[in-house]
Amino acid sequence: MDNEIICIGCGAKLQAEDPNKAGFLPTSALNKAIEAEDQEVYCQRCFRLRHYNEIMPVDLNNDDFLALLNSLAEKKALIVNVVDLFDFSNSLLSSLKRFVGNNKFILVGNKFDLFPKNSRQSKIKDWMRQEANRMGLYPEKIFLISAARQKFLDELIEYLNANSQDQDIYFVGMTNVGKSTLINAIIDKMGDIKDLITTSRFPGTTLDRIEIPLDNGHYLVDTPGIMTENQLVAHLDPKDLALVSPKKPLKPATYQLLPGNTLFLGGLGRIDYLKGESTSFTVYAPREVYVHRTKVSNADEFYRKHNGEMLTPPVASKDLPELKGQEFHTTYKSDLLFGGIGFITVPEGCVVKAYTPGQIGLGIRRALI
Ligand code: GDP
Repeated sequence: MDNEIICIGCGAKLQAEDPNKAGFLPTSALNKAIEAEDQEVYCQRCFRLRHYNEIMPVDLNNDDFLALLNSLAEKKALIVNVVDLFDFSNSLLSSLKRFVGNNKFILVGNKFDLFPKNSRQSKIKDWMRQEANRMGLYPEKIFLISAARQKFLDELIEYLNANSQDQDIYFVGMTNVGKSTLINAIIDKMGDIKDLITTSRFPGTTLDRIEIPLDNGHYLVDTPGIMTENQLVAHLDPKDLALVSPKKPLKPATYQLLPGNTLFLGGLGRIDYLKGESTSFTVYAPREVYVHRTKVSNADEFYRKHNGEMLTPPVASKDLPELKGQEFHTTYKSDLLFGGIGFITVPEGCVVKAYTPGQIGLGIRRALI
């Protein structure tokens, strides 16, 4: 070929002959690039990687992924675990403690924009640190950011800059925590790093990872998102996922309740007020989640009749695990956590039973607000 073009992602010579070899681009796309004398062309593989969609989530126990994590302990690297503040315990990568080695490890709590305006950063960080410590993880630093809004990123980027002088930076995280959004935002903000993604495979494995070159000779490395059954999102149809992924801060809604009352969070959550005085519970959930009050004695039947119709979301998810409950006694003002959906603030001295599909994402913490 006279007009030889190089993929600006991976440097391979572009070719239309063999989709399994480096630099492949379908003939039509390649011809278009040649005609247009376009010098900024990605091969199909880099194009897909660049747009992330093709990177399949991997299972946490995937051998290749464990090998990748293992390799981290042996090299000098900064490890960044991106977590979803609304599904924190399920997005914290507990197995990291085996792989961090002597490396620095930081936690980045994403989707901070969803917390109500008056939320105190220090309280949220204290809670994150306690939870991480409980799992044997000791983050050097904790950041609260909004990748989608590109907010509160400066401090993080400054830290990454300072810590990438003598090592690569590895981003790890469960799927849907916003890792891709964050990396794109970082590329956007760090004007000096090239907006080019060099792709490479982890040696000897089938795992894709993306290396973004920094101008100091080191790399930001994006590892595949990890999926477990412990995330509600793993069970949700994209339509429902959209409904529980709010774009605006969660607006508190307060309900005056007596023991014997139940609140439904669509068909994805339920809380029974079992013992205590007449009091108020505050629900922090996306507006799209229909909150309904009924009686505990009536709740099972109500759910059977109305789940997926009046009680939405879900609107499209099939085969969701059944709602399963757990009892909690609040000894101080607490947030009952419905991972992936939101939380409900309950005063001290209450006995409640909280339910989610298969108890996924259920938890409790000292009230943050
Ligand atoms: P990944 O699977 O970790 O790479 O996650 P994505 O970057 O694809 O994001 C998952 C979902 O979270 C998408 O619906 C994003 O729009 C949303 N998201 C990402 N960052 C933020 C954020 O800062 N705030 C909010 N509200 N949503 C976010």
